Amino acid sequence: MNRFWSDTVRNILPYIPGEQPKDKKYIKLNTNENPYPPSPKVLEAIRQETGSILRLYPDPEASSLKETLSDFYQVRANEVFVGNGSDEILAFCFPAFFNAGDVISFPEITYSFYPVYADLFGLKCETIALNRDFTVDLSKFPENVDGILLANPNAPTGIAVGLSEIEILLQKHNDKLVIIDEAYVDFGAESAVPLIKNYENLLVVQTFSKSRSLAGLRVGFALGNKDLIEALNRVKNSFNSYTVDRIAQRAAVAAVRDKEYFTETLNRIIKTREETAKRLISLGFNVLPSKTNFLFVSHDKISGRELFSRLRHDGILVRHFDGEGIENYLRITIGTDEEMEVLVERLQNFLRNSIP
Ligand code: PMP
Repeated sequence: MNRFWSDTVRNILPYIPGEQPKDKKYIKLNTNENPYPPSPKVLEAIRQETGSILRLYPDPEASSLKETLSDFYQVRANEVFVGNGSDEILAFCFPAFFNAGDVISFPEITYSFYPVYADLFGLKCETIALNRDFTVDLSKFPENVDGILLANPNAPTGIAVGLSEIEILLQKHNDKLVIIDEAYVDFGAESAVPLIKNYENLLVVQTFSKSRSLAGLRVGFALGNKDLIEALNRVKNSFNSYTVDRIAQRAAVAAVRDKEYFTETLNRIIKTREETAKRLISLGFNVLPSKTNFLFVSHDKISGRELFSRLRHDGILVRHFDGEGIENYLRITIGTDEEMEVLVERLQNFLRNSIP
């Protein structure tokens, strides 16, 4: 605390990102990064942009990246917004679409950045309870809120809802903005992007951090009706003209163009996920059905906290959240087959030694 702090800063409880440890080399399964490197074409694009050209500011409109995304997702270029990671875009949504005092609704268990943004921008939150099996019942979203924010698939549960349910949600709340955070959608869920042309109240936010192996580059994008995109541009251009740097723009273009590499790495991760899920179930874990690059798991005989500490001690980092109802769960990012092999083996040993 300091006398120069604003009331907002005094009262805010910032989001805590997963550890990026420096003490030793871990098998890092804690922040949902992709275990595979970016496409070789992306690395080449980065090399091409790394020279005296860096004297110059990047394109403030990121036109080439927007055109590439508009091509890939079959939307118009003015229906695309790009930002410094999808976190930045989600943050921009608050001042772009809501006023202080407005109420935004999201599931009680979801990405824990949402309430932080709401606090930062003075919104109130109304959360909806999940079903006992951690699925989200979209009919629970109240009518009298100012906006809805839904991670699909949800995090940290990994569970997805289908497109037909999203469409009903959009129809039911047709005068409210519905933001769908599709950070993990490429790993097997249905994207709401095709609904954009029919629903002016839909904004879809995605990222290059997971399925495109570029968490370190910080690129995200939003797709939606041109007036929604214009609102995001107005916020961005009142804040920072150059949120996506030259290297990031060029590399992101190459990543979208390399469809083959994208599909191949996705399929590998999905296959590893399904195999790991089966093996964990056979060890007695409860494994939620995941459409993401992580598994959310618990074991009846050993607490989430204990499993987390034991794994950490053995050089495997996973994520444990203290939130009510999920304190016994671990979120485990899907790594390579070799990494998951080590994980399963360690878990098997703990269970053998801990359960009488
Ligand atoms: N949404 C969800 C649900 C996430 O889990 C994450 C990653 N922490 C993000 C958005 C943000 O991703 P990024 O800022 O790297 O694009």
